[in-house]
Amino acid sequence: MDIEQFRRAGHEAIDRICEYYYTLQDRPVTARVEPGYLRRALPSEAPQTGENFDLITQDYEKYIMPGLTLWHHPSFFAYFPTGSTFEAVLGDLYSGSVPNPGFNWSASPASTELETVVMDWAAKMLGLDSSFRNCANVGGGVIQTTASEAALVAVVAARSRYTKQHPDVSSEKLLIYITTQTHSLGKKAGLVLGLNVRALEVTVEDNFALRGDTLRRALEDDCAAGLHPFILIGTVGTTSSGAVDCLGEIGLVLEDYPFIWLHVDAAWAGIAMVCPEYRDVCALGDINKYGDSFCTNFHKWGLVNFDCSGFWVRDRASLIDALDVTPEFLRTKHGDAGTVIDYRNWHFGLGRKFRSLKLWFVLRSFGVEGFQRYIRETVKLGNMFASLIRESTEFALVTPPSLALTVFRLEPRASPPVPLAKLNELNRVFYARVSARSDIAFTQTDLSGTFCVRMAVGATRTSEDHVKHAYEILCLEGKAALEEWQC
Ligand code: PLP
Repeated sequence: MDIEQFRRAGHEAIDRICEYYYTLQDRPVTARVEPGYLRRALPSEAPQTGENFDLITQDYEKYIMPGLTLWHHPSFFAYFPTGSTFEAVLGDLYSGSVPNPGFNWSASPASTELETVVMDWAAKMLGLDSSFRNCANVGGGVIQTTASEAALVAVVAARSRYTKQHPDVSSEKLLIYITTQTHSLGKKAGLVLGLNVRALEVTVEDNFALRGDTLRRALEDDCAAGLHPFILIGTVGTTSSGAVDCLGEIGLVLEDYPFIWLHVDAAWAGIAMVCPEYRDVCALGDINKYGDSFCTNFHKWGLVNFDCSGFWVRDRASLIDALDVTPEFLRTKHGDAGTVIDYRNWHFGLGRKFRSLKLWFVLRSFGVEGFQRYIRETVKLGNMFASLIRESTEFALVTPPSLALTVFRLEPRASPPVPLAKLNELNRVFYARVSARSDIAFTQTDLSGTFCVRMAVGATRTSEDHVKHAYEILCLEGKAALEEWQC
């Protein structure tokens, strides 16, 4: 493709994308395809000679589009929202047009410098303590691909810091602390690094938040048994129910265990800290006081298209000590002098995408007030849905709503109350009906043996009407599920 062909195909691509967005609302939210559909549709090998680009884009429409789950559809309420803005799309387009794997400052000065600047902007916008900012040259922020990778990086840094202080500890004695509600990233970090993981219990009475007493008891038991917990992955906004671990209590306990790293995974909820009124809910004060590292995903609730996971550390030296491997070919004048950030030492890969560009576009286009408006609007819609559930006679909240997340179940009022096992059975029937629909998407979860459904609001195009419509569908399917279950 030459430049003029690119110009034409580019214009066509933008037209096609605009058309797609104009018709988004009328499209199915979930893909109606069967496993293997694409393998059956596409040739078994790459073409021997290059094909016409028009043909390729036609096949994109024909084969790829029907297989997409539309996370940015206004009726997508599953998992957590995915960032979706045109500003970020354009950021990705520009960054793709200047491909450079900016691993060192000199490999792409603009990419590195923009990242250090926008991560400071973001830290400030979210209210993170100044020690997390790049400009102080002690801590700093970096964009990771995912919250899972950020947690893995935190574990590696924490291990390095801990074993420096405790050089005789063998790796079988090291322990990662998570809770039973921590995202799978905790167990995965243990799996990848070959380290033991202990999931601390949280209870329904505490709304699934980790308490300081539980942590203290675990530490006393494990230390007495000769084990070495070296990191706790706390969560602000758990995946299942939006629980926020009691970071103040946890921080106080960790004061007695100074080499244990506190990583705060706020992959979804953290962006809400842009609004002053949600900072206490998100335990910002405690993050600032006790957190060694913090992560929130701009690619979730932060208006930036996947991937863009913000990760900040209070002490960049722990990160670099753990991850710096510098063969001769990676040495540079500025790197040797220590006068620049070389982001290759802040994550696992060497090369890295120019992600800061899309974050810059979005931060500038929306401004802090635009972020605040968006977060407030989605929380308002979440509250509206939670009120409908509260007022209903068929449904009940399972946990208190958390920001824009509501966890509920079908719970017919009966005397005596329906036993849990029966209720679970009913809700599985209900969820099977809901998830068989293509015009709406929810996710199921299990909270201490209670099967329930999650509703997470966050798509930028969701309005009150979409939430009301979602509730109507749930009522309809709830009624049908009750009939089906009673038969
Ligand atoms: N942490 C929490 C609390 C989450 O809810 C999720 C995903 O929903 C993740 C981490 C995983 O994020 P990522 O896909 O960026 O690894």
